[in-house]
This record gives sequence, structure tokens and C-alpha cells, in this order.
Amino acid sequence: MTLLLSGGTVVRSLAPPVVEVGDVLVEGGRVVAVGGAAPQGVGRIDCGGCLVIPGNVCAHTHLYSALARGMPYRLESPRTFVEILRRIWWRLDRALDETTIRASALAGGMEALLAGTTTLIDHHASPGAVDGSLDIVADALGELGVRSLLCYETSDRDGPAIARQGIAENARFVATTTSGARSLTRAMVGAHASFTLSEETLGACAELSREGGVGLHVHVAEDAADERDAEARFGLRVVQRLAASGAIDRRSILAHGVHLDPAEIEIVRSVGATVVHNARSNMNNAVGRAALAALGERVALGTDGIGADMFEEGRAAYFRRREEDVLTGMTWPLERLAEGARVAGEAFGEPLLGRIEPGAPADLVVLGYPAVTPVDASTLAAHWLFGIGAASVRDVVVAGEPVVRDGRLVRLDPQALAAQTRAGATRLWGRLEEIDVHPFEPGRHGEGAPWRT
Ligand SMILES: [Zn+2]
Repeated sequence: MTLLLSGGTVVRSLAPPVVEVGDVLVEGGRVVAVGGAAPQGVGRIDCGGCLVIPGNVCAHTHLYSALARGMPYRLESPRTFVEILRRIWWRLDRALDETTIRASALAGGMEALLAGTTTLIDHHASPGAVDGSLDIVADALGELGVRSLLCYETSDRDGPAIARQGIAENARFVATTTSGARSLTRAMVGAHASFTLSEETLGACAELSREGGVGLHVHVAEDAADERDAEARFGLRVVQRLAASGAIDRRSILAHGVHLDPAEIEIVRSVGATVVHNARSNMNNAVGRAALAALGERVALGTDGIGADMFEEGRAAYFRRREEDVLTGMTWPLERLAEGARVAGEAFGEPLLGRIEPGAPADLVVLGYPAVTPVDASTLAAHWLFGIGAASVRDVVVAGEPVVRDGRLVRLDPQALAAQTRAGATRLWGRLEEIDVHPFEPGRHGEGAPWRT
């Protein structure tokens, strides 16, 4: 398909900001020209008065939680991060079956596109339906037209058999995607977090990551409980443990990193791994604040499952950081979004992902944004923080194919989709009611662990 996005103000790059007025010519899934003479007789999207930006990347999310919104909750309120997991998320993921995995992925993928997010880096868990679960997620996102980087959240919290299934699902999916069968999907190796991983399971994940040539995607020091567990079981900090097992390298995604100490930050920076900061999730779970200044450039942004609106996430991260450091520059959120695109681009072998340059994958978002002050390279960051939002998203193109036009999904009928996701929510909530508080507690690995009794 050849497509011309004509007459818009084009954001060619977020970091550094590069902005120019001109046409974007798309062919064969890629940007082939920016500016220059427009050919006649090609499909045209009139972008006059609009901004054309690279599609946003959410660098850490959990599509499996997309149907949690409004779900019933009758247990005692959780008081700590581990209680939040045991009482909410580790019950919800156990309730998932193949029908509700698909409904969740459709719901989360739809919301992503409508918010201008074209790539999702997802961390999936469904211990009751592990085998084939990543195909279900990939199929749903593929139908919508979302680009994705997927993995299964391997963990020992549901026992060694489920941990082995998680490793096998990652291995199967790595093989599927390296065969090139899915053009919009790539794989990572997923692991939950140090505190729910045995040495054997972590070692298997590290080996698969090395042999498969893909990075590990793991939660790291999201809460102090993760650090306490690593120190008690191994006499090491979390990142020291991961590094000792050979699990982390420059392709790794380390989600949160709230409780990293300076020595761990030094390791993260020296191996070149990316930390994904999830500001709203961290605030919502009251886990603390990440040392963003010390973490430096290799920090991307994720929602951790709180939708996929990266305009909102970037704003929240910015204001939270400004509260503690008023010298935080306005370009900081744009640099973090560019880092997320770099990570995704590396996994796809597409170094220009996240830019609008000849040769870049044509993942583009048209914003109907009536700018009240001039938009150029020097003002873009201010517009991004104080003006632009997901409500401005008019059209979305992924790999050169329109997937949202005039604020509506192109490929799937929105009404039918909404009916499907609501039915999925009813089914999931019903199953959830039958599931008790998760028995796993940090420090109770091996003999005496609840799943062994
Ligand atoms: Zn997470």
C-alpha cells in the first residue's frame, strides 16, 4: 500500500526534537520520503493543521490486567505490595483462560491504538493456561494491527510445574517469532521477579535468553521485599543476583528499579540494560521513587497495565520528578519515550523505529491538535507536556497500514469488540470470585512452600 500523509507538521524525531512541515510518503510498510514532491494518484490522508508523530511505545505493560477495571473485590484491603500481588494480581492471572486472555489482549490493544500507542512491550501471566497463551495475545494484537514484543512471566510462585511451562512457552514463542512468521511480533524471555524465582528457574531463563538471542524482561526491585528476599536467600542484592546468573545484558528490560542501590545502578549502567519507569503504577502501589537521575539515559516509560496512554504516563512521570527536582527539563519525557522506541526497534532489527525518516517503519499517529502557539523543535516538548493528549489522536498507521481513522478502529468493529471484551470481563470476574488469596510469600521457597503442602 502507498499512502501520503499530506500537509502536516511532522515530528521526525522526539530526541532531539526535529520538526518540519511536509508530506510523509509511505510505501511497503515504511516511510520512503519526508517533504519533497508528492506523487499523484496515491491514497491520501489530509493532515493539514495536524501533527504527525511517531507512534508511541509502551515499554512495560500487562495486557492480562486489561479487564480488571471495576472488578469486584470482597477481601480485606491489601496493606503492602506483596499483599497487592497475593490478593489481586496473582488471583486475577490464575482466573484467566484462553477466552479471557484473548478478550484482555483485544481490550488493551484497542485502547493502545486509540491512545496513539503503536507498540506494546508486554509481560503476560496466565498460570492456568500457559501453553499457547502468547499466540493468543499475538493473534489478538495482530488482528488489531498493534506491534508487540511479548513474553511469558515465568515464576515459581505457582509451583515448579508451572515454572517449567513458563520457560517452555517462552522457548516456543522465541522459536515462532525468529522464524519470521509474525511480522508485527517479536519475543523476549519473561521472568516475574527475583523473589519468586528459584536458582534453577532463573538459570533456565538466562540460558534461553542467551541461546535465543533475545533479552530478558523482568521486574526488578519494584518493592523493598524483592531486595530483602535476595539478601536473605543469596546474600546478594537483586541486580547482583541477576548479573551473577548471566541473566542481564544490553537487551534486558528491568521493570521499575525503585529500590536499586548505587552498586546495582552501576551494574545496570555498565551492562547497558534498560530500566522501565512506571510512575503511575509506583504511586498507585506506594512502592517508592526510583533514582531517576542516577539511572541516566537508559530509562524508558511503561504503564505497568494502567492503560497504554503514553502522553498521560509521560506527564505523570514528569510532574512527579519535577516535584523532587525542579530542574528536570521538559525534554526528559520525550527522551524516555525515544528510549522505549530504541529498545523495541532493536528487538525488531529496526533502528529507525520511533522516528519519521526514510527507511523507518511507518508507525505514525496523526494528532488533531489545534496548537495555540507555534510548534517547532524548540517548543515541541512544551506542547507535549501541556497540550497534546490521547484525545487528540485522529489517525493511526502501523507498518504502513491505517488501523485507526477519525478516532475509530479500522480492522475490527468497535461495537462487536466492546461486546466481546465486556463478556470476557463478566466471565473473568465470575471465575475470580472462586479464587482465594494466593499462598506464596517471599522467603518460602523450596520445602515448606505452600504449593508443596
Ligand atoms: Zn509489571
